[in-house]
Amino acid sequence: MKAVQYREIGGAPQVVTVPDPEAGPGQVLLKVTAAGVCHSDIAVMDMPAEALRFPLPLTLGHEGVGTVAALGAGVTGLAVGDAVAVYGPWGCGACPKCADGKENYCLRAAELGIFPPGLGAPGAMAEYLVVDDPRHLVPLGGLDPVAAVPLTDAGLTPYHAIKRSLPKLVPGAAVVVIGTGGLGHVAIQLLRAMTAVRVIALDVTEEKLALAREVGAHEVVLSDERAAAAVRELTGGTGAQLVLDFVGAPPTVATAGAVAAVEADVTIVGLGGGRLPVGFGSPAYEVSVSAPYWGSRSELAEVLALARTGALEVHVETYAIDDAPLAYERLHAGKINGRAVILP
Ligand code: NAD
Ligand code: ZN
Ligand code: ZN
Repeated sequence: MKAVQYREIGGAPQVVTVPDPEAGPGQVLLKVTAAGVCHSDIAVMDMPAEALRFPLPLTLGHEGVGTVAALGAGVTGLAVGDAVAVYGPWGCGACPKCADGKENYCLRAAELGIFPPGLGAPGAMAEYLVVDDPRHLVPLGGLDPVAAVPLTDAGLTPYHAIKRSLPKLVPGAAVVVIGTGGLGHVAIQLLRAMTAVRVIALDVTEEKLALAREVGAHEVVLSDERAAAAVRELTGGTGAQLVLDFVGAPPTVATAGAVAAVEADVTIVGLGGGRLPVGFGSPAYEVSVSAPYWGSRSELAEVLALARTGALEVHVETYAIDDAPLAYERLHAGKINGRAVILP
């Protein structure tokens, strides 16, 4: 089968032919219908050899949907042909975090050598994907596979980041979304669907800000050194009760800290390497700073349920599998508006 692989440190992703995989005992083989292109893949492909925790080559793709093609020995509860979304942050399934559905925070994954598909295990950018356990599948329930595939990460990650702050997101509160790309443009829609907050979106180009407005941002601000002052003004000097930073670079993290209201949450999702020092008087009093990772199994089911209400419209650009390297080039250059999706 064809697969999109990251094959050597610093190299570009390549379309190669690999043997068709088979489902072992307890596993599920999917015929992949769509796979999303996440900026985290670029972060992985930028890592030096000593930072990579798994061997190459790696078949990319940690956002996947497909139809069940075969069931490994002992698998029940699924039938060939079922349309499913893949829960990506695989864990052991048995530790206290996994028992709570939070496999993204599995306490034993590293020790047991368990990796998400596309981030260590063979991923979804291929004609077939082996899923290690049926508990990592959620029925699509009639959702369009191409529009739904980004929800497995670009939806789930912001959903988790927003849900944990919901008690602060009362009507009249303001939320700043920094970086309105794949994750950010879904975050804006989640905020509009789940709360009555005022959404202020920051990005670096007019095109991205136009998409932010289209998907529900009340205000848009160019992300430069004047952005924090602009947000302060838009919030009557108070600042935002939640700042979601989908860039996470030093300048955006600085902006995030500067616009955080008293008792706000600053949630750094992007892998840009920025750090926000916290000490008395800075940022504002009692600001909580955190950097979450992906989301839980139940949260993925919730995001898909929300999508079934019609509240989420993911903007997708589709690419044939042979054009996957081009999709990565365009993402790297900041040219994707919304999410790129590969159709194997
Ligand atoms: P993306 O490229 O689709 O979106 C990033 C957006 O940020 C783009 O619209 C870009 O124009 C904008 N941007 C760049 N510099 C900016 C700046 N200085 N100010 C404001 N906006 C700026 O990327 P994505 O796939 O949405 O991923 C976003 C980030 O989240 C990446 O760093 C990715 O690695 C990370 N991520 C983290 C998790 C997690 O679990 N923590 C999960 C998925 C992705
Ligand atoms: Zn991702
Ligand atoms: Zn676990």
